[in-house]
Amino acid sequence: MKTCQFCQTEQDTANSHCISCGAVLFTKGEKFFTHNQKNININKTCLQGYVNTSYKNLVKKLGQPTDGDGYKIDAEWDIEFPNGEVGTIYNWKDGHNYNDGMGMDVKYIKNWNIGGHSPKVVSLIGDLLGCNTVEDCQVSWYVI
Ligand SMILES: [Zn+2]
Repeated sequence: MKTCQFCQTEQDTANSHCISCGAVLFTKGEKFFTHNQKNININKTCLQGYVNTSYKNLVKKLGQPTDGDGYKIDAEWDIEFPNGEVGTIYNWKDGHNYNDGMGMDVKYIKNWNIGGHSPKVVSLIGDLLGCNTVEDCQVSWYVI
């Protein structure tokens, strides 16, 4: 049996994604972390792609965000994957912080940037959020 790290639902070992919430299921002993569990070094990460999903889904899966730089960013999640890869999910210049209180409330933001050290992080984050199985979730890559 595997247990979903998000919703604690037990399921068949053969499943790759949670039958209940769509999140990726890591094999036993593997675990991802967010800034809510430990300090994650996101130094020199840069834009790798985008994820289109609700704030609600992100909070449900990853917990409360930080306010990032508190300037161009209003909400940010830092993630460390079992393989050591790090990634970030954040809004960019469209929230209250950058627009003097105008702009969008994070609760309504759907288009998020994905930061990391390589484009691989985009699929890792897509998997983590269950983007293949949850309707309201889509990732795309940043093309230079
Ligand atoms: Zn689950």
